[in-house]
Amino acid sequence: MKVAKFGGSSVRDAQAMGRCMSIIENDPSIKLVVVSATYNSTNELEKLAIAARDRDEAFLKENLKLFLQKHLDIASNLKIEKSLHSAIDQLINELSEELKQISQLGLLSPQAMDSLYSYGERISSWLFAEGFKSRGRKELQLIDARDVITTDNTHNSAKPIIEQIRINAQEKISPLIKTHLIITQGFIGKTEQGATTVLGREGSDFSATLFGEAIGADVVQIWTDVPGVATADPRLVKEARYLSELSYEEATTMASLGAKVLYSKTLEPAERSGIKVFVGSSIQPELGGTYITSTPSSDSADIIGLTFKKRGDESVITFIGKDLRKIDLEIPEVDRGDIHRSFLVDTSQLDQLLIDWHQRFFQK
Ligand code: ASP
Ligand code: MG
Repeated sequence: MKVAKFGGSSVRDAQAMGRCMSIIENDPSIKLVVVSATYNSTNELEKLAIAARDRDEAFLKENLKLFLQKHLDIASNLKIEKSLHSAIDQLINELSEELKQISQLGLLSPQAMDSLYSYGERISSWLFAEGFKSRGRKELQLIDARDVITTDNTHNSAKPIIEQIRINAQEKISPLIKTHLIITQGFIGKTEQGATTVLGREGSDFSATLFGEAIGADVVQIWTDVPGVATADPRLVKEARYLSELSYEEATTMASLGAKVLYSKTLEPAERSGIKVFVGSSIQPELGGTYITSTPSSDSADIIGLTFKKRGDESVITFIGKDLRKIDLEIPEVDRGDIHRSFLVDTSQLDQLLIDWHQRFFQK
């Protein structure tokens, strides 16, 4: 049984959503689908929230309209019946009400922000589910992730309560999953008292493995816009190559030390429950991707990854790999672990150093 998660770029418009639907149609073992907000929507919701707090009426009016229109366009392009579009209007009305309350208070609490965030995923998952139905998919059920992902009340980066999530999944998902494809949201959860929470920015990957663990999936697929985890950020390092296999430890180290392709907590549930995680591109699924399991990468290279974190004028570049002894840099080493070594660099030199070091230390 597989869980498939589609990120914001994978569901950015109707065509992109269609590609995700093809992936699901081609693999009947996908039983549960986790959807992110459409591309950039979470950032847009943040901007709306701040504008509400600052009582910037003009910005709010204009951008709320654009937010609605963007999603109505997707609905039309997915050929969702016009009579159903009112569901989107309804969600936007609720969003608008919450923004009004923030304006009245002149205050944006973390709790209010989490509630606002949830609209991105709630709208995109609705579009995905209705769009899939209009494409002919039967036996499909949209469920509210908040009814399953119970969390503590640390707003903005809530901690999931694993035992409760398992019980919720038994109750809400198990009766349906044999006969229905389940569509749900990433990122969002709910406290035991009923307040909406989020797992942290970019947290939908984490939702996917939490759902995977709760339903006993053996594979969780993370579909994004690149065919896997690369040796370095491919936008900066042209020579970067995609890795076919990684261990949980290697992938977690890469994610927590800067690799943006995967949210760092994602592999916790996977490792705990022995779930294989796949990272691939929904734009080019035929390219394959990276498999993350308990076995260390079979890649013969000693060094497997180069990640970075920017911190103002200074940045940290980290090498990840099995044997990092050959890294002989005469610059301050700020951190070191079993499979990583981190160095402090000037941010102004960051891009060039990534290219140079990749060329110097990575085997072809
Ligand atoms: N939509 C959320 C964000 O952009 C969560 C995610 O997509 O992973 O942070
Ligand atoms: Mg992501």
